[in-house]
Amino acid sequence: MSLKRDVIIIGAGASGLMCAREAGRRKRSVLLIDHAGKTASKVRVSGGGRCNFTNLHASPANYISQNPDFCKSALSRFAPEDFIGLLDRYGIPYYDKENGQLFCTNTSRDVVEMLHAECKKAGVEIRLQQTVESVVKKDLFTIMTARDVLESQSLVIATGGLSYAGLGATDLGYRIARQFGLKITPLNPGLVPFTFPPEDAAFFRELSGVSLDASIRYGKSRFRGEILFTHSGMSGPGILQTSLYWKSGDAITVDILPDLDALKLFMEESKSRMEMHTLLARYLPKRFSKMFSDRYFNSRPLYQYNQKELEDIAHRLHQWSLRPAGTVGYTQAEVTVGGIDTRELSSKTFESKKVPGLYFVGEVLDVTGQLGGFNLHWAWASGCAAGRYA
Ligand SMILES: Cc1cc2nc3c(=O)[nH]c(=O)nc-3n(C[C@H](O)[C@H](O)[C@H](O)COP(=O)(O)OP(=O)(O)OC[C@H]3O[C@@H](n4cnc5c(N)ncnc54)[C@H](O)[C@@H]3O)c2cc1C
Repeated sequence: MSLKRDVIIIGAGASGLMCAREAGRRKRSVLLIDHAGKTASKVRVSGGGRCNFTNLHASPANYISQNPDFCKSALSRFAPEDFIGLLDRYGIPYYDKENGQLFCTNTSRDVVEMLHAECKKAGVEIRLQQTVESVVKKDLFTIMTARDVLESQSLVIATGGLSYAGLGATDLGYRIARQFGLKITPLNPGLVPFTFPPEDAAFFRELSGVSLDASIRYGKSRFRGEILFTHSGMSGPGILQTSLYWKSGDAITVDILPDLDALKLFMEESKSRMEMHTLLARYLPKRFSKMFSDRYFNSRPLYQYNQKELEDIAHRLHQWSLRPAGTVGYTQAEVTVGGIDTRELSSKTFESKKVPGLYFVGEVLDVTGQLGGFNLHWAWASGCAAGRYA
């Protein structure tokens, strides 16, 4: 016996829950299935367990896609205030950490429980531990799971990206897209630390644990924030943001004294007997200053450097060029860059142009947000948009 519903949603994560709520509120019969034993694993761990659930300044400029206009419609119909309104109704406390990044004051469980309560109110049925074996479309969609045969008029794919397989990520959404002839843009790990070739990696390993405020430039992008040296390379918000845009083989430029004119400082101290690394340690972590000075300019008293050498050192400090070997990959990436080509979908309904009744929402799409609550905001906005039509 098959189970028939108006709408079946595969993936009970951020976008799937939001889509289910919205479709349920339209009195559609909705079944939300997931292969995991619990819902929304990524939301639960997100933002270090406090879930940076939106950003007050979310706008299309915060998203990367081969089709940058696609996100505009959904974002214009679901604002940060819409999600905040939901939290307020449940009395869930939150705070603005910085730059409009909203986090839960307690834990992300508040958000997950709120979404569950909303789904329940809307009559949504949730079935977990459902392994999808096949999807076929005739008049209806037939979804075979290891336990049930499910049928629906509309099928929404909300299976998320590829990162953190331990939290339930799989490639099912991309496989279903391919099966139905939809295009997928190249996939890459994003918001992910960089690794470096052996000659730099050894240097970074020695610096492991050191962090400093820097400005990172790559192409047209420029991000200011903390960079953190790790055993495998470089991390921290500025690096994670840069990884969204970075193309393999390219160099990045790091200004490690973004608020200072290093040459001006050297000129003022050019007669000093102070060692270069001691001077730099006024502005940079001590261990970093020593290792950086020894590696690049053989640290010695300032008066022993000539003008050209001081210019070169200042240039190195403001434009430290580094060529990552790669990234640490999907095991530590917060998101997948790329995804289902949005030119295949209606930006109003998120329905496939080729396959009526088939919808895609959330991170599985070629829409990737910057760091700062933009990815969860996209999950809510896209889930909500599709839920109004599925
Ligand atoms: C460690 C970490 C921290 C993060 N922190 C933040 C943050 O603070 N703010 C922010 O905006 N973003 C954050 N993100 C990104 C954000 O969590 C995701 O972009 C967002 O959850 C995507 O929503 P989604 O609904 O598309 O996918 P998900 O929320 O990933 O949901 C996908 C669901 O599909 C299910 N699924 C997958 N494959 C199958 C299958 N084969 N069969 C059935 N079900 C399947 C999964 O079990 C999961 O429940 C973070 C990500 C990570 C990994």
